[in-house]
Amino acid sequence: MRLGVQAALVDGQLLPGDVELVDGVVARYGLASANGQGIAAPGFVDLQVNGFGGVDFLEADSEAYGRAGEALLETGVTAYLPTLITTPEEELLAALHAIPLQSDGPRILGVHLEGPFLAASRLGTHPPAARRDPDPELLQRLLDAGPVRLMTLAPELPGSRKLIDLLHERGIVVSCGHTNASAVVAHAAFDQGVRTVTHLFNAMRPFGHRDPGIAGAALARDDVLVQIILDRVHLADETALVVWRAAAGRVALVTDAVAGAGMIDGSYSLGGFEVDVRDGVVSGPEGVLAGSALTMIEAVRNLHSLGVPLAEALAAASAVPARVLGLPTIGRIEAGSPADIVVLDDNLEIERVFVGGEARVAA
Ligand code: ZN
Repeated sequence: MRLGVQAALVDGQLLPGDVELVDGVVARYGLASANGQGIAAPGFVDLQVNGFGGVDFLEADSEAYGRAGEALLETGVTAYLPTLITTPEEELLAALHAIPLQSDGPRILGVHLEGPFLAASRLGTHPPAARRDPDPELLQRLLDAGPVRLMTLAPELPGSRKLIDLLHERGIVVSCGHTNASAVVAHAAFDQGVRTVTHLFNAMRPFGHRDPGIAGAALARDDVLVQIILDRVHLADETALVVWRAAAGRVALVTDAVAGAGMIDGSYSLGGFEVDVRDGVVSGPEGVLAGSALTMIEAVRNLHSLGVPLAEALAAASAVPARVLGLPTIGRIEAGSPADIVVLDDNLEIERVFVGGEARVAA
């Protein structure tokens, strides 16, 4: 089938012409079409989703995953990592066991474990009682319980070097986050093979002109991909622009969405405690930011509204996060890649969403 679009995001550029899908994959693009409308972009890949559409992944069964997945599809997400924050081991193991291996909704690429090996001083809303120093045996139990794809840890903790090696041996992507790492410690982790940082600037040592910390180290290196929550709350616009100017092309948008995302304002669960969603801001006890109510399409619009070209903003929601995971065929429109596609109109409203060539959302 042909999508009937006027352009498609191919290789980071908007290429005029229609796109043809055959047997669930992209067959051809750049096809002449008289009156194509809208843009075909790769489906969005979200590396950090704690919950969505009223569902908290720490407490979700497969039916709840189904509901969250449907709601995520509406926002253009065709692949994601359910993200489990710092939690007592038994609950974490149960949540890992509950990850559905097959999904009717967006592709579940594996789990993002955000914790429990995080810095006590940079926990944000993660519960301190469940935080742990690196513990290879605990890590082993977690990895055996479910399909972990990405793990956020603080590289300055004792024993983290060994943990990073263990994770890399298992083919799991390591991301530095919730960390008080100095630039020196951060460079050591990057030199060890870590290639990405979780929600840059949030829950980490602040950037100082003589103490640039992990944020400064990550921005100063071309080989590190930085993830940002671009809801205009977690980062000031100027900060987001500084990130972009230092790291265009290696910025991955994430939502860090919680159960209340995609829902009306109210109280929702995040890892067993209550968070409040009010005017797009999610706060936990004492008003600390606790994830977001952001959607990927809003993050794309926010980045574009800062002056970033649309093609690059779309890539930040698709090809770049796929690169974090080392997945060359996800998040791209190219011949033979899975037809996971979002069709947007001229106002960047989502018109249609395809997963594996199957229409899942239609305006
Ligand atoms: Zn976090």
